[in-house]
Amino acid sequence: MSNEKIPYKIYLEESEMPKAWYNLRADMKNKPAALLNPQTLKPMTAQELSGVFCDELVKQELDDTTPYFEIPDEIKKFYKMYRPSPLVRAYCLEEKLQTPAKIYYKFEGNNTSGSHKLNSAIAQAYYAKEQGLVGVTTETGAGQWGTALSMACSYFGLDCKVYMVKVSYEQKPFRREVMRTYGASVTPSPSMETEVGRKILAEHPGTTGSLGCAISEAVETAVKNKGYRYVLGSVLNQVLLHQSIIGLETKTALDKYGIKADIIIGCAGGGSNLGGLISPFMGEKLRGEADYRIIAVEPASCPSFTRGKFAYDYCDTGMVCPLAKMYTLGSGFIPSANHAGGLRYHGMSSVLSQLYHDKLMEAVSVAQTDVFEAAVQFARVEGILPAPESAHAIRVAIDEAMKCKETGEEKTIVFGLTGTGYFDMVAYQKYNDGQMTDYIPTDEEIQANFDKLPRVDV
Ligand SMILES: *Cc1c(COP(=O)(O)O)cnc(C)c1O
Repeated sequence: MSNEKIPYKIYLEESEMPKAWYNLRADMKNKPAALLNPQTLKPMTAQELSGVFCDELVKQELDDTTPYFEIPDEIKKFYKMYRPSPLVRAYCLEEKLQTPAKIYYKFEGNNTSGSHKLNSAIAQAYYAKEQGLVGVTTETGAGQWGTALSMACSYFGLDCKVYMVKVSYEQKPFRREVMRTYGASVTPSPSMETEVGRKILAEHPGTTGSLGCAISEAVETAVKNKGYRYVLGSVLNQVLLHQSIIGLETKTALDKYGIKADIIIGCAGGGSNLGGLISPFMGEKLRGEADYRIIAVEPASCPSFTRGKFAYDYCDTGMVCPLAKMYTLGSGFIPSANHAGGLRYHGMSSVLSQLYHDKLMEAVSVAQTDVFEAAVQFARVEGILPAPESAHAIRVAIDEAMKCKETGEEKTIVFGLTGTGYFDMVAYQKYNDGQMTDYIPTDEEIQANFDKLPRVDV
């Protein structure tokens, strides 16, 4: 089909929206490794997990064989308010770059929370409600997940307790206020409210907190309060399952116009948007039906894939969560003050880690100033002001398009534009003022945390 026939935005009809989430694990030969109990180092049972997570989500977490999970009607109804999200042909960017490449992006920033995280938040809140729970607890770093969860909880009338990494709590008062507007309570972490928070504050007085630490606090609060469970916005298998909606819509839209992607690119923090975007494509690749180049993009300041180790590790600083086998920088790794808060996590989804280990996908790391250069370039031609996290994918999409310019190849590039950056204007300000720096950890710093990895023989 000729270029002219492909619209700027490919929308789907409501009737074309996915009716089920796709579970990529069902098609993986090498399944992701099981979560381990942090005390016994034995695989977590459903019963053990149900103390922390909702029952239905535990089922989804442990199921490596069922390929499709029907999306409940109430969730489909909520999805219809902001989905399907558009798949946009970046004609203006292509023209600006003078590249023969065809660039598409799947835009997930079209909702108040400003990112893809709402796709899983609404599912997790729904299952909590179905189970008759009072509320949920969680952590938030940059604030996107907490915002999405607040919206989802208010929709279902659930209480929502958010532990927000202290540095973000102070730097992003407007994010905090959005959460409170949707009825959530927001506590800066580490706090004096939990045992683990008090312990961390005693050991590191004046600390500005970390995601791993906020997770420990949220889990403790869920376990200690009747009628509460903990929910997590990334990394877990269940989250990738819910986020498969991104990839399924993308695939339907491409198929509608007979477009075959060559390269699929996404930023990777805990791996949920990328895992969701690539799901149906990776499924085809695993079944030998098609081939794609799939690229994860991570910050050079927090390079889990490109410089991490594939090993069992704690998911949180307080070491109360199960251990996951993943590419990790060590649970004690505290990344430098990178502005892409959503990518500052020491580990990576076990599903993506296994796929990367099996060489089914690639990973690259990019420096912060190069990311913002791409963000500004994109904003000026495509109009959307991207989240710093999303701009990691833009950087590599532009780089790949420029390679096509050199070779003359007309490759089709699809990338995930996960969100908007309106709450990240301090970062843009630093960049615009020429005051942004690129901190890249030394080998010694990284090794110091590897030395502290738990010793697990499985
Ligand atoms: C949280 C977030 C990410 C990274 O999380 P993943 O789980 O790796 O997808 C990327 N982009 C935005 C806008 C986010 O809010």
